[in-house]
Amino acid sequence: MRWGLIGASTIASEHMIGAIRASGGHIASVLSSSPDRAASYAADHGIDAGVTDLDAAMDGVDAVYISTTNEKHLPQAMAAIAAGKHVLCEKPLAMNVADAVSMVQAAAAEGVTFATNHHLRNAGSHLAIREAIAAGRLGDILSVRVFHAVHLPPHLQGWRIDNPGAGGGVIPDITVHDADTVRFHLGEDPIDVVAMKAASGMGQGVEDSAMSLWSMPSGAMVQTHESFTHAFAGTGIEIHGTKGSIFARGVMTQAPTGTVMLRTDAGEEALSYSTHGLYDRAVGLFTKACAGEGRPAADGVDGVKSLAVAAAVNKAAETGQRITVDYGRI
Ligand code: NDP
Repeated sequence: MRWGLIGASTIASEHMIGAIRASGGHIASVLSSSPDRAASYAADHGIDAGVTDLDAAMDGVDAVYISTTNEKHLPQAMAAIAAGKHVLCEKPLAMNVADAVSMVQAAAAEGVTFATNHHLRNAGSHLAIREAIAAGRLGDILSVRVFHAVHLPPHLQGWRIDNPGAGGGVIPDITVHDADTVRFHLGEDPIDVVAMKAASGMGQGVEDSAMSLWSMPSGAMVQTHESFTHAFAGTGIEIHGTKGSIFARGVMTQAPTGTVMLRTDAGEEALSYSTHGLYDRAVGLFTKACAGEGRPAADGVDGVKSLAVAAAVNKAAETGQRITVDYGRI
């Protein structure tokens, strides 16, 4: 498959260029707003052409990977869909749920594949957790705790920590991933949320930390913590059920790492899992879906729903109210 990269981004250089090439894809172009950056990024990464015009970036490609800052996802995705390109779009899909819904609906009307780049549900660790839940090893799920407080590396301390117009803040950055991961494991969508957010040393005009509680249709309760300022906390997820509990540590990451332990009446069992690349699996499934085989790991509806939960968390934190998640007309 021939690809155009929409955005000369860090995530593309650190993870997605390799994943696209591992899937057999050819990267024909990269779009940047700066001619110099387009040229240097293309040269550094062996991409055929570095361009500043979106139509030129889409010329002769089958699919685009959109990884610009968040406010650009909507217009760029709509243009790609109108041009008949398959779209793998970064999270959050857009700045609000209505825009994300319009992207997903446009892709469906055009008959192109549209996917959201939620990497965590591609991790072997999370696939093993989901399998244990689906096999009934935890019984009925009672509660989930997500620990996703990290220290944002210096090279990412740009728009994320000071530019709300570009979609900065830890809620659009990390809470969306936690929403997708919890939906993936529990197979249900949060109903309503309460939340608080804070700037704890890094955020300027945006939150760098958030905590929230979500209610689920099954009655399960979910607790999440996201931050950019926690150097030593480590990440993880705990899922507690009537027959067992999962304790997973170091698994809310971009690498296939961490431990997954299941505790039941029988004692403690370390669950083994595949250590394939998270982004490799995401691109592989997307590529197959574009060829009419199967589905992307996370589709457009998944991207709308993760954004809807994050938007509710933000609104709950701003208002101090319990907020019903509005999934839009999806
Ligand atoms: P970057 O800041 O690296 O890139 C975003 C834009 O900033 C680029 O499109 C580029 O603009 C510009 N830019 C990047 N580096 C430079 C530079 N050195 N000098 C000047 N401009 C620069 O963002 P990320 O890669 O961290 O994130 C991009 C998107 O990907 C976001 O939507 C984010 O939420 C998502 N993301 C997803 C992850 C996942 O695991 N799914 C992980 C990380 C990010 P231009 O293209 O115009 O040159």
